[in-house]
Amino acid sequence: MIAGAGVLGLATAVALADAGCAVTVCDPADRNASGVAAGMIAPAFEAALDESARPHAGLLMAARNLWPALAERAGIELDRTGALAVGPDDWLDGVAASLTALDARPMDIGGGTARALAPGLSDTFARALLSREDWRVDAPVALAALRNTAEAAGVQFRPWRVSSRGNADVLVVATGASADLELAPELAGLAPIKGHIVRVARPAVGAVVRSRGIYAAPGEAMAFGATMEPGFGDDAVDPTKAEPLLAAGLQLFPGLAGTPATFAAGVRAATSDGLPMVGPSAEPAVVLAVGPRRNGWLLAPLVAQIVTAFVTGRDPGPYAGRFDPKRFRA
Ligand SMILES: Cc1cc2nc3c(=O)[nH]c(=O)nc-3n(C[C@H](O)[C@H](O)[C@H](O)COP(=O)(O)OP(=O)(O)OC[C@H]3O[C@@H](n4cnc5c(N)ncnc54)[C@H](O)[C@@H]3O)c2cc1C
Repeated sequence: MIAGAGVLGLATAVALADAGCAVTVCDPADRNASGVAAGMIAPAFEAALDESARPHAGLLMAARNLWPALAERAGIELDRTGALAVGPDDWLDGVAASLTALDARPMDIGGGTARALAPGLSDTFARALLSREDWRVDAPVALAALRNTAEAAGVQFRPWRVSSRGNADVLVVATGASADLELAPELAGLAPIKGHIVRVARPAVGAVVRSRGIYAAPGEAMAFGATMEPGFGDDAVDPTKAEPLLAAGLQLFPGLAGTPATFAAGVRAATSDGLPMVGPSAEPAVVLAVGPRRNGWLLAPLVAQIVTAFVTGRDPGPYAGRFDPKRFRA
């Protein structure tokens, strides 16, 4: 049984079903962080721009490398155009140095090339950095595809909140930012980070664009994200947080001005070292799959692989130690 039908629960459900397990996914809600996310599979820029991700760049890259197989399995379109950074020269120089140190091979390109890669990008940018290491999925579309794939693989779905393992052989806890401590005591170690995101209702293609404090991720709508609001665990939309994102996004893509926009918010769950907790709980026959912070989409295939190894008694591989929930026990 899996509690939670976000990207971690669904990717794990597909992997467990493919390994021959009988799987039931329970989730009482139809809204979660996975469905509002931008869908960036972004080891390079996340490690370059987010200090808590930087020490884990190699691991993030390894997770990304599992995406082609998952995308093919679930019929998810994986866009590999790459990601651009635009902004003031001194900021771009710092980002270029970080990307180079991470072996993410940034290319310094002119504004015209950047606009060819990101159609609609403002012509005020004469220079950009391009990394091909970051990929992208359209998160709401990909979440639906994962669910369909799981159903086709025989996974059962129930609209229930899980409060205990009940009769299940194993319970996988993939409950996002919920702190349901009756499921596993380790969930007390998760902290919420609320994030607002804006979607402008016009289909967009091409590279993700990063700038200081804002990104634009194409898809069925153009997504401008995202705020980082530590300590807030509710997903209520606050227009005073979302409107600045819209304004900053329109500076990147001015042609989208006047297009209808929707505001949304989701809650990321984070541990104190920025890595998720994946593996056996202190609670018998309970396996955790929680806490991927800003990188739940990126990490999902790696988390699914590790959980499946624990459930089926196989070697969980080289990254399981760094995800071990026991690291916080002391
Ligand atoms: C604005 C924003 C943008 C983001 N952009 C990106 C991005 O571009 N790339 C990236 O990699 N990550 C991104 N993230 C982070 C990513 O969305 C999360 O890390 C990821 O979605 C977490 O997935 P999850 O399955 O752990 O949790 P969730 O998606 O939150 O799902 C958890 C599910 O568990 C269910 N649940 C809770 N309690 C119970 C219970 N007791 N029983 C049954 N079900 C229960 C909930 O209803 C929920 O559906 C973004 C996040 C936000 C907020």
